[in-house]
Amino acid sequence: MDRSQEHVLQEVAEKDIRFIRLWFTDVAGVLKSVSTDPGELEDAFHEGIGFDGSAVQGLTRVCESDMLLRPDASTFQMLPSVGGDDDRVARMFCDVHTPDGRQAASDPRGVLARQVARAQELGFTVMVHPEIEFYLLRQPVSVERMVPVDNAGYFDHVVRGTSNSFRRRAVRILEDMGIPVEFSHHEGGPGQNEIDLRAVDPVRAADNIMTARTIIEEVALGEDLMATFMPKPFTDHPGSGMHTHLSLFEGDENAFHAPAGRYQLSETGRRFIAGLLAHAGEIAAITNQHVNSYKRLWGGGEAPSYVCWGHLNRSALVRVPLYKPNKRRAARIEYRAPDPSANPYLALACLIAAGLDGIAKRMELAPEAEDNVWDLSDRERQVMGIHALPNSLSQAVAAMRSSELVAAALGEEVFDFVIRNKLNEWREYRRQITVQELRQFLKVH
Ligand code: GLN
Ligand code: MG
Ligand code: MG
Ligand code: MG
Repeated sequence: MDRSQEHVLQEVAEKDIRFIRLWFTDVAGVLKSVSTDPGELEDAFHEGIGFDGSAVQGLTRVCESDMLLRPDASTFQMLPSVGGDDDRVARMFCDVHTPDGRQAASDPRGVLARQVARAQELGFTVMVHPEIEFYLLRQPVSVERMVPVDNAGYFDHVVRGTSNSFRRRAVRILEDMGIPVEFSHHEGGPGQNEIDLRAVDPVRAADNIMTARTIIEEVALGEDLMATFMPKPFTDHPGSGMHTHLSLFEGDENAFHAPAGRYQLSETGRRFIAGLLAHAGEIAAITNQHVNSYKRLWGGGEAPSYVCWGHLNRSALVRVPLYKPNKRRAARIEYRAPDPSANPYLALACLIAAGLDGIAKRMELAPEAEDNVWDLSDRERQVMGIHALPNSLSQAVAAMRSSELVAAALGEEVFDFVIRNKLNEWREYRRQITVQELRQFLKVH
């Protein structure tokens, strides 16, 4: 047993913790949880906890369904008490192993860890900070009734508003759980909010995103609201994105920072962006994994639709944000496609793989887009060499299918599962007769 495991056992005893939730994520990006008793913990650290993986989306083939959860002691945190319940509960994220002790090929956390290790082999540490957007709706929510909690807009301070107190509560819980929050504010849509997490290493960032989604949902339920991470819940309001800021470090040095470079961006930074742009279409089925994701990407509201980069240009897919010259550690790039319903482990793995490919192949970065690319004509975009992102899940899956980069980054099992799973989602969607079609033909509302 190592020191952090001993520390967990000690804390569990001292704080009289009754339940320990073991968390992991399926390939579809859904958080899974199994509770264990403190008495089982030592065994869990030594041998792992056995479970039947075949019930979990994408985790196993039926023939190899026995799996082990190996808790990562460094992720041990107390969970907030909900609904006046006094039982003390903690959680740990787990890696999923096969019975012979190897990391399961289909564990999303393992997929990301492998990509982080690849970056390390090339001499880079990756840092990630996500901006999580979501809508808060009044209960009861139903398909016919989706009422945002307020009518405020971007950065609005809502006097005595539910959004303010909601964010304060959610942020306090996240920080108590060791998840530092950089900003939080009202977003552009009514009832739309954003919580930005501070930069950490990729696996921790993905763990933090899973935790934040859970806490945000729970705090909302406690206030008789519903939080939704649906990419585009309203036709006429902006969608919810998860802009992802990335930087690479070589030792203590920010490898994206070069004082003499344009926007102080280094050659490494330019190549990383070039890699992201080159593979943006192929990784879209991972960063934007639902039918609904493409309604956000093609629904305006500052979501990116075209593959290009810029500085202050919010129509660009990759943005090089303005940062203060004395904050070289903050040099980073912002990838604006992902949405908060993505599996964050797989999405980050693909972003890192794409960026590193740009570095490995010494890709040249095309000139930046200075105009608002949404306002250009198709012809103008064509002349500038600006391609569109996939316009549907079906197109995105087709692009992913022929991607060697995504196949290598995800591994064969996850790659095949995602394609099958997403084609099913597309087929189910294609079968539906929508309200819009009925209106068109029946001439009723
Ligand atoms: N909601 C927008 C999106 O979907 C982003 C708005 C913003 O952060 N400026 O990407
Ligand atoms: Mg933001
Ligand atoms: Mg935002
Ligand atoms: Mg942003």
